[in-house]
Amino acid sequence: MTSPPTDNHAELLRALLAGKLPDENGRFGPFGGQYVPETLIPALARLKEGVYGLLPTEDFQERLQNQLRSWVGRPTALTYAPRLSERWSAEVWLKREDLAHTGAHKINNAIGQGLLAEALGASRVVAETGAGQHGVASAAACARLGLPCIVYMGEIDIERQAPNVDRMTRLGAEVVAVKSGDRTLRAAIDEALRDWVSDPSDTYYLLGSAVGPHPYPYLVRELQAVIGREARTQILEHCGALPDAVFACVGGGSNAIGLFHAFLGDQDVHLVGVEAGGRGEALGDNSATLVGGRPGVLHGAHSMLLYDEDGQIQETHSVSAGLDYPGVGPEHSFLKLVGRANYVTANDVEALDAVDECCSEEGILPALETAHALAGARRWAKKNQGKRILIGLSGRGDKDVPILRQHALSTETANAAP
Ligand SMILES: *Cc1c(COP(=O)(O)O)cnc(C)c1O
Repeated sequence: MTSPPTDNHAELLRALLAGKLPDENGRFGPFGGQYVPETLIPALARLKEGVYGLLPTEDFQERLQNQLRSWVGRPTALTYAPRLSERWSAEVWLKREDLAHTGAHKINNAIGQGLLAEALGASRVVAETGAGQHGVASAAACARLGLPCIVYMGEIDIERQAPNVDRMTRLGAEVVAVKSGDRTLRAAIDEALRDWVSDPSDTYYLLGSAVGPHPYPYLVRELQAVIGREARTQILEHCGALPDAVFACVGGGSNAIGLFHAFLGDQDVHLVGVEAGGRGEALGDNSATLVGGRPGVLHGAHSMLLYDEDGQIQETHSVSAGLDYPGVGPEHSFLKLVGRANYVTANDVEALDAVDECCSEEGILPALETAHALAGARRWAKKNQGKRILIGLSGRGDKDVPILRQHALSTETANAAP
Protein backbone atom coordinates (compact mmCIF):
# COMPACT_ATOMS: atom_id res chain seq x y z
CA MET A 1 0.00 0.00 0.00
CA THR A 2 1.33 3.45 -0.85
CA SER A 3 0.57 6.45 1.29
CA PRO A 4 0.20 9.95 -0.14
CA PRO A 5 3.53 11.81 -0.09
CA THR A 6 2.29 14.44 2.35
CA ASP A 7 1.76 11.80 5.10
CA ASN A 8 5.24 10.54 4.45
CA HIS A 9 6.60 14.08 4.76
CA ALA A 10 4.84 14.68 8.07
CA GLU A 11 6.26 11.41 9.35
CA LEU A 12 9.78 12.34 8.22
CA LEU A 13 9.50 15.69 9.98
CA ARG A 14 8.34 13.97 13.18
CA ALA A 15 11.38 11.70 12.99
CA LEU A 16 13.66 14.75 12.69
CA LEU A 17 12.00 16.47 15.65
CA ALA A 18 12.35 13.29 17.71
CA GLY A 19 16.12 13.41 17.06
CA LYS A 20 16.04 10.29 14.86
CA LEU A 21 17.59 11.97 11.82
CA PRO A 22 20.09 11.59 10.41
CA ASP A 23 19.43 7.83 10.67
CA GLU A 24 22.17 5.23 11.16
CA ASN A 25 23.07 5.54 7.47
CA GLY A 26 23.46 9.28 7.80
CA ARG A 27 20.29 10.03 5.89
CA PHE A 28 17.75 12.79 6.24
CA GLY A 29 14.98 11.03 4.30
CA PRO A 30 16.33 10.68 0.74
CA PHE A 31 19.24 13.10 1.36
CA GLY A 32 22.67 12.78 2.97
CA GLY A 33 24.52 9.46 3.21
CA GLN A 34 28.13 8.59 2.45
CA TYR A 35 28.92 8.61 -1.28
CA VAL A 36 32.68 8.19 -0.97
CA PRO A 37 35.43 5.93 -2.29
CA GLU A 38 36.02 2.74 -0.30
CA THR A 39 39.28 4.18 1.07
CA LEU A 40 37.41 6.88 3.01
CA ILE A 41 34.99 4.54 4.82
CA PRO A 42 37.31 3.60 7.73
CA ALA A 43 38.17 7.27 8.37
CA LEU A 44 34.48 8.22 8.39
CA ALA A 45 33.70 5.31 10.70
CA ARG A 46 36.33 6.52 13.18
CA LEU A 47 35.00 10.04 12.98
CA LYS A 48 31.44 8.83 13.50
CA GLU A 49 32.50 6.94 16.61
CA GLY A 50 34.17 10.07 17.93
CA VAL A 51 31.21 12.31 17.13
CA TYR A 52 28.58 10.08 18.73
CA GLY A 53 30.82 8.87 21.55
CA LEU A 54 32.57 12.08 22.63
CA LEU A 55 30.39 15.05 21.70
CA PRO A 56 27.60 14.32 24.21
CA THR A 57 29.94 13.63 27.15
CA GLU A 58 30.05 16.05 30.05
CA ASP A 59 33.81 16.38 29.77
CA PHE A 60 33.72 17.38 26.10
CA GLN A 61 30.78 19.75 26.58
CA GLU A 62 32.54 21.46 29.47
CA ARG A 63 35.67 22.06 27.42
CA LEU A 64 33.56 23.31 24.51
CA GLN A 65 31.46 25.66 26.68
CA ASN A 66 34.65 27.04 28.20
CA GLN A 67 36.14 27.92 24.82
CA LEU A 68 32.84 29.34 23.57
CA ARG A 69 32.52 31.58 26.60
CA SER A 70 36.05 32.76 27.18
CA TRP A 71 37.60 32.69 23.70
CA VAL A 72 34.80 32.92 21.11
CA GLY A 73 32.83 35.46 23.15
CA ARG A 74 29.50 33.67 23.53
CA PRO A 75 26.68 34.19 24.06
CA THR A 76 26.61 36.71 21.22
CA ALA A 77 24.18 39.62 21.56
CA LEU A 78 20.63 39.73 20.29
CA THR A 79 20.19 43.29 19.03
CA TYR A 80 16.92 45.11 18.45
CA ALA A 81 17.04 47.11 15.20
CA PRO A 82 14.76 50.12 15.75
CA ARG A 83 15.40 51.94 12.50
CA LEU A 84 15.11 48.89 10.26
CA SER A 85 11.93 48.06 12.19
CA GLU A 86 10.44 51.43 11.38
CA ARG A 87 11.45 51.35 7.72
CA TRP A 88 10.13 47.82 7.19
CA SER A 89 7.01 48.13 9.42
CA ALA A 90 8.21 45.17 11.43
CA GLU A 91 9.94 44.30 14.69
CA VAL A 92 13.48 43.34 13.67
CA TRP A 93 15.96 41.46 15.84
CA LEU A 94 19.52 40.58 14.83
CA LYS A 95 21.47 37.58 16.18
CA ARG A 96 25.00 38.94 16.19
CA GLU A 97 27.42 36.24 15.01
CA ASP A 98 29.51 39.12 13.62
CA LEU A 99 30.57 39.68 17.23
CA ALA A 100 32.02 36.18 17.58
CA HIS A 101 35.82 35.82 17.46
CA THR A 102 37.22 36.10 13.90
CA GLY A 103 34.01 37.85 12.85
CA ALA A 104 31.52 35.14 11.93
CA HIS A 105 29.71 31.99 13.04
CA LYS A 106 32.41 29.77 11.47
CA ILE A 107 34.45 29.81 14.68
CA ASN A 108 31.74 27.82 16.56
CA ASN A 109 32.36 24.91 14.23
CA ALA A 110 36.14 25.34 14.01
CA ILE A 111 36.78 25.31 17.76
CA GLY A 112 34.32 22.44 18.28
CA GLN A 113 35.96 20.26 15.65
CA GLY A 114 39.39 21.35 16.88
CA LEU A 115 38.51 20.00 20.32
CA LEU A 116 37.24 16.82 18.70
CA ALA A 117 40.52 16.43 16.76
CA GLU A 118 42.39 16.83 20.04
CA ALA A 119 40.18 14.28 21.80
CA LEU A 120 40.65 11.81 18.94
CA GLY A 121 44.41 12.14 19.30
CA ALA A 122 45.05 13.69 15.89
CA SER A 123 48.49 15.26 15.46
CA ARG A 124 47.58 17.50 12.51
CA VAL A 125 44.48 19.16 11.10
CA VAL A 126 43.63 19.77 7.45
CA ALA A 127 40.93 22.15 6.27
CA GLU A 128 39.64 23.56 2.99
CA THR A 129 38.71 27.14 2.34
CA GLY A 130 37.10 29.13 -0.46
CA ALA A 131 36.91 32.78 0.50
CA GLY A 132 39.27 32.14 3.40
CA GLN A 133 36.86 32.67 6.29
CA HIS A 134 36.80 29.02 7.33
CA GLY A 135 40.56 28.84 6.83
CA VAL A 136 41.04 31.76 9.23
CA ALA A 137 38.68 30.24 11.82
CA SER A 138 40.45 26.87 11.54
CA ALA A 139 43.91 28.47 11.80
CA ALA A 140 42.83 30.38 14.91
CA ALA A 141 41.24 27.33 16.56
CA CYS A 142 44.30 25.18 15.83
CA ALA A 143 46.67 27.83 17.20
CA ARG A 144 44.54 28.02 20.33
CA LEU A 145 44.77 24.23 20.78
CA GLY A 146 48.39 23.84 19.69
CA LEU A 147 47.60 21.74 16.61
CA PRO A 148 49.42 22.16 13.27
CA CYS A 149 46.96 23.30 10.58
CA ILE A 150 47.18 22.86 6.81
CA VAL A 151 44.67 24.78 4.74
CA TYR A 152 43.95 23.78 1.12
CA MET A 153 42.90 26.70 -1.00
CA GLY A 154 42.33 27.00 -4.75
CA GLU A 155 44.97 28.95 -6.65
CA ILE A 156 42.33 31.35 -7.97
CA ASP A 157 40.95 32.00 -4.48
CA ILE A 158 44.46 32.64 -3.12
CA GLU A 159 44.75 35.47 -5.61
CA ARG A 160 41.25 36.84 -4.93
CA GLN A 161 41.49 36.63 -1.13
CA ALA A 162 45.07 37.70 -0.39
CA PRO A 163 44.32 39.37 3.01
CA ASN A 164 42.85 36.13 4.38
CA VAL A 165 45.89 34.18 3.20
CA ASP A 166 48.04 36.56 5.27
CA ARG A 167 45.75 36.13 8.28
CA MET A 168 45.96 32.33 8.10
CA THR A 169 49.74 32.39 7.76
CA ARG A 170 50.06 34.81 10.66
CA LEU A 171 47.92 32.46 12.76
CA GLY A 172 50.44 29.73 12.06
CA ALA A 173 48.65 27.74 9.34
CA GLU A 174 50.32 26.44 6.21
CA VAL A 175 48.31 27.44 3.13
CA VAL A 176 48.64 24.96 0.25
CA ALA A 177 47.67 26.17 -3.24
CA VAL A 178 45.41 23.74 -5.13
CA LYS A 179 46.21 23.82 -8.84
CA SER A 180 43.89 21.00 -9.94
CA GLY A 181 40.23 20.95 -11.00
CA ASP A 182 38.40 24.26 -10.89
CA ARG A 183 41.21 25.73 -8.67
CA THR A 184 38.56 27.05 -6.25
CA LEU A 185 36.61 25.66 -3.28
CA ARG A 186 35.44 22.45 -4.98
CA ALA A 187 39.00 21.39 -5.80
CA ALA A 188 40.20 22.43 -2.33
CA ILE A 189 37.66 20.07 -0.69
CA ASP A 190 38.79 17.21 -2.97
CA GLU A 191 42.42 17.86 -2.04
CA ALA A 192 41.70 18.00 1.72
CA LEU A 193 39.81 14.69 1.47
CA ARG A 194 42.77 13.16 -0.39
CA ASP A 195 45.18 14.29 2.32
CA TRP A 196 42.91 12.86 5.03
CA VAL A 197 42.62 9.46 3.33
CA SER A 198 46.39 9.13 3.11
CA ASP A 199 46.73 9.28 6.91
CA PRO A 200 43.33 9.02 8.58
CA SER A 201 44.53 8.09 12.07
CA ASP A 202 46.89 11.05 12.63
CA THR A 203 45.04 13.60 10.51
CA TYR A 204 41.73 15.25 11.29
CA TYR A 205 39.71 16.86 8.47
CA LEU A 206 38.00 20.02 9.71
CA LEU A 207 35.15 20.59 7.23
CA GLY A 208 33.71 24.10 7.10
CA SER A 209 29.98 23.80 6.51
CA ALA A 210 27.02 21.44 7.06
CA VAL A 211 27.92 19.51 3.90
CA GLY A 212 29.95 16.43 2.97
CA PRO A 213 29.49 12.77 3.89
CA HIS A 214 27.89 11.64 7.16
CA PRO A 215 28.65 12.48 9.97
CA TYR A 216 29.79 15.99 8.93
CA PRO A 217 26.34 17.53 8.30
CA TYR A 218 25.23 16.26 11.71
CA LEU A 219 28.44 17.31 13.47
CA VAL A 220 28.43 20.83 12.04
CA ARG A 221 24.74 21.30 12.82
CA GLU A 222 25.29 20.22 16.43
CA LEU A 223 28.18 22.70 16.78
CA GLN A 224 26.24 25.58 15.17
CA ALA A 225 22.94 24.88 16.96
CA VAL A 226 24.19 27.10 19.78
CA ILE A 227 23.18 30.09 17.61
CA GLY A 228 19.49 29.19 17.61
CA ARG A 229 19.43 27.98 21.22
CA GLU A 230 20.79 31.32 22.41
CA ALA A 231 18.60 33.35 20.07
CA ARG A 232 15.42 31.53 21.12
CA THR A 233 16.13 32.09 24.83
CA GLN A 234 17.11 35.73 24.23
CA ILE A 235 14.04 36.63 22.19
CA LEU A 236 11.74 34.95 24.73
CA GLU A 237 13.45 36.98 27.47
CA HIS A 238 13.04 40.27 25.60
CA CYS A 239 9.61 39.77 24.03
CA GLY A 240 7.97 36.96 25.98
CA ALA A 241 7.13 35.47 22.60
CA LEU A 242 8.74 33.74 19.63
CA PRO A 243 9.46 35.45 16.30
CA ASP A 244 6.96 35.10 13.45
CA ALA A 245 9.77 34.44 10.99
CA VAL A 246 13.47 33.58 11.08
CA PHE A 247 15.84 34.41 8.19
CA ALA A 248 19.38 33.22 7.45
CA CYS A 249 21.58 33.15 4.37
CA VAL A 250 22.46 29.75 2.88
CA GLY A 251 25.77 28.83 1.28
CA GLY A 252 26.62 25.34 2.47
CA GLY A 253 23.98 26.00 5.09
CA SER A 254 25.78 25.94 8.45
CA ASN A 255 24.68 29.27 9.96
CA ALA A 256 21.12 28.71 8.74
CA ILE A 257 20.82 25.18 10.12
CA GLY A 258 22.39 26.39 13.37
CA LEU A 259 19.84 29.19 13.71
CA PHE A 260 16.82 27.14 12.52
CA HIS A 261 17.35 24.10 14.68
CA ALA A 262 16.00 25.40 17.98
CA PHE A 263 12.85 26.60 16.17
CA LEU A 264 12.02 23.46 14.16
CA GLY A 265 9.41 22.32 16.65
CA ASP A 266 7.76 25.76 16.82
CA GLN A 267 5.22 25.17 14.07
CA ASP A 268 4.11 28.79 13.82
CA VAL A 269 7.62 30.13 13.25
CA HIS A 270 8.37 30.52 9.51
CA LEU A 271 11.91 29.49 8.65
CA VAL A 272 13.35 31.09 5.54
CA GLY A 273 16.74 30.41 3.97
CA VAL A 274 18.03 32.99 1.50
CA GLU A 275 20.31 31.85 -1.31
CA ALA A 276 22.43 33.93 -3.66
CA GLY A 277 20.40 34.96 -6.71
CA GLY A 278 23.59 36.42 -8.21
CA ARG A 279 23.08 38.32 -11.47
CA GLY A 280 20.16 36.25 -12.81
CA GLU A 281 18.24 32.98 -13.03
CA ALA A 282 20.31 31.26 -15.73
CA LEU A 283 22.48 28.32 -14.72
CA GLY A 284 25.92 29.73 -13.88
CA ASP A 285 24.65 33.18 -12.91
CA ASN A 286 23.71 32.35 -9.31
CA SER A 287 24.29 29.95 -6.42
CA ALA A 288 20.62 29.20 -5.73
CA THR A 289 21.00 25.46 -5.16
CA LEU A 290 17.71 24.80 -3.35
CA VAL A 291 15.65 27.20 -5.45
CA GLY A 292 17.05 26.20 -8.84
CA GLY A 293 18.88 22.88 -8.40
CA ARG A 294 18.05 19.18 -8.67
CA PRO A 295 19.04 16.16 -6.57
CA GLY A 296 22.52 14.82 -7.16
CA VAL A 297 25.76 13.81 -5.43
CA LEU A 298 28.64 16.14 -4.57
CA HIS A 299 31.37 15.78 -1.95
CA GLY A 300 29.99 12.59 -0.49
CA ALA A 301 26.34 13.47 0.02
CA HIS A 302 23.08 13.25 -1.88
CA SER A 303 21.52 16.70 -1.83
CA MET A 304 20.27 19.44 -4.10
CA LEU A 305 22.87 20.53 -6.61
CA LEU A 306 23.43 22.81 -9.59
CA TYR A 307 24.35 20.87 -12.73
CA ASP A 308 23.59 21.03 -16.43
CA GLU A 309 21.90 18.66 -18.91
CA ASP A 310 25.09 16.59 -19.20
CA GLY A 311 25.42 16.23 -15.44
CA GLN A 312 28.30 18.72 -15.29
CA ILE A 313 28.42 20.58 -11.98
CA GLN A 314 27.92 24.28 -12.67
CA GLU A 315 30.20 27.16 -12.00
CA THR A 316 28.30 29.45 -9.68
CA HIS A 317 28.25 33.20 -9.24
CA SER A 318 27.57 35.46 -6.30
CA VAL A 319 28.93 38.83 -5.23
CA SER A 320 29.58 37.11 -1.87
CA ALA A 321 32.35 34.51 -2.03
CA GLY A 322 30.97 32.60 0.96
CA LEU A 323 27.72 31.71 -0.84
CA ASP A 324 29.44 30.73 -4.08
CA TYR A 325 29.07 26.92 -3.91
CA PRO A 326 27.02 24.62 -6.20
CA GLY A 327 25.90 22.26 -3.39
CA VAL A 328 24.07 22.61 -0.09
CA GLY A 329 23.82 20.64 3.15
CA PRO A 330 21.46 17.63 2.99
CA GLU A 331 19.39 18.74 5.97
CA HIS A 332 18.27 21.85 4.07
CA SER A 333 17.22 19.72 1.09
CA PHE A 334 15.24 17.69 3.61
CA LEU A 335 13.61 20.74 5.25
CA LYS A 336 12.59 21.97 1.83
CA LEU A 337 11.20 18.57 0.82
CA VAL A 338 9.05 18.19 3.93
CA GLY A 339 7.99 21.84 3.78
CA ARG A 340 9.36 22.92 7.16
CA ALA A 341 11.57 25.66 5.71
CA ASN A 342 11.21 27.88 2.64
CA TYR A 343 14.06 28.92 0.42
CA VAL A 344 14.17 32.11 -1.62
CA THR A 345 16.85 34.17 -3.33
CA ALA A 346 18.24 37.68 -3.05
CA ASN A 347 20.35 38.93 -5.94
CA ASP A 348 23.68 40.80 -5.96
CA VAL A 349 22.08 44.24 -6.21
CA GLU A 350 19.61 43.56 -3.38
CA ALA A 351 22.46 42.30 -1.19
CA LEU A 352 24.65 45.35 -1.87
CA ASP A 353 21.66 47.56 -1.05
CA ALA A 354 21.03 45.69 2.19
CA VAL A 355 24.66 46.24 3.26
CA ASP A 356 24.18 50.01 2.83
CA GLU A 357 20.89 50.04 4.71
CA CYS A 358 22.22 48.03 7.68
CA CYS A 359 25.30 50.30 7.87
CA SER A 360 23.49 53.61 7.71
CA GLU A 361 20.46 52.67 9.83
CA GLU A 362 21.92 50.39 12.49
CA GLY A 363 25.67 51.11 12.53
CA ILE A 364 26.53 47.52 11.65
CA LEU A 365 28.59 46.56 8.58
CA PRO A 366 27.31 43.06 7.71
CA ALA A 367 29.10 40.53 5.50
CA LEU A 368 27.85 40.34 1.91
CA GLU A 369 26.67 36.78 2.65
CA THR A 370 24.63 38.06 5.61
CA ALA A 371 23.18 40.86 3.48
CA HIS A 372 21.23 38.23 1.52
CA ALA A 373 19.35 37.31 4.71
CA LEU A 374 18.63 41.00 5.36
CA ALA A 375 17.36 41.47 1.79
CA GLY A 376 15.11 38.40 2.01
CA ALA A 377 13.73 39.54 5.35
CA ARG A 378 13.04 43.05 4.10
CA ARG A 379 11.06 41.74 1.11
CA TRP A 380 8.98 39.48 3.39
CA ALA A 381 8.39 42.25 5.95
CA LYS A 382 6.97 44.55 3.31
CA LYS A 383 4.41 41.87 2.36
CA ASN A 384 3.65 40.84 5.96
CA GLN A 385 3.30 44.03 7.98
CA GLY A 386 3.85 44.23 11.72
CA LYS A 387 5.64 40.90 12.23
CA ARG A 388 8.45 40.03 14.62
CA ILE A 389 11.47 38.96 12.57
CA LEU A 390 14.71 37.33 13.69
CA ILE A 391 17.67 37.57 11.30
CA GLY A 392 20.90 35.63 11.57
CA LEU A 393 23.66 38.23 11.24
CA SER A 394 26.19 35.58 10.27
CA GLY A 395 29.28 37.78 10.01
CA ARG A 396 30.85 41.20 9.73
CA GLY A 397 31.66 42.88 6.45
CA ASP A 398 35.13 44.31 7.00
CA LYS A 399 36.50 41.65 4.64
CA ASP A 400 34.17 42.91 1.88
CA VAL A 401 35.24 46.56 1.88
CA PRO A 402 37.36 46.22 -1.32
CA ILE A 403 34.41 44.64 -3.18
CA LEU A 404 32.02 47.29 -1.87
CA ARG A 405 34.43 49.99 -3.06
CA GLN A 406 34.59 48.46 -6.56
CA HIS A 407 30.81 48.36 -6.80
CA ALA A 408 30.44 51.93 -5.57
CA LEU A 409 32.94 53.04 -8.25
CA SER A 410 31.20 51.19 -11.07
CA THR A 411 27.83 52.62 -10.01
CA GLU A 412 29.33 56.14 -10.02
CA THR A 413 30.75 55.58 -13.47
CA ALA A 414 27.39 54.28 -14.72
CA ASN A 415 25.58 57.30 -13.25
CA ALA A 416 28.11 59.71 -14.74
CA ALA A 417 27.64 58.29 -18.25
CA PRO A 418 25.74 60.63 -20.61
C1 LIG B 1 30.94 31.28 5.14
C2 LIG B 1 29.89 32.26 5.46
C3 LIG B 1 28.54 32.03 5.14
C4 LIG B 1 28.07 30.84 4.35
O1 LIG B 1 28.28 29.60 4.95
P1 LIG B 1 27.13 28.74 5.60
O2 LIG B 1 27.75 27.44 5.86
O3 LIG B 1 26.00 28.68 4.62
O4 LIG B 1 26.71 29.44 6.84
C5 LIG B 1 27.60 32.96 5.54
N1 LIG B 1 27.95 34.09 6.20
C6 LIG B 1 29.24 34.34 6.52
C7 LIG B 1 29.56 35.60 7.24
C8 LIG B 1 30.25 33.45 6.16
O5 LIG B 1 31.52 33.73 6.46
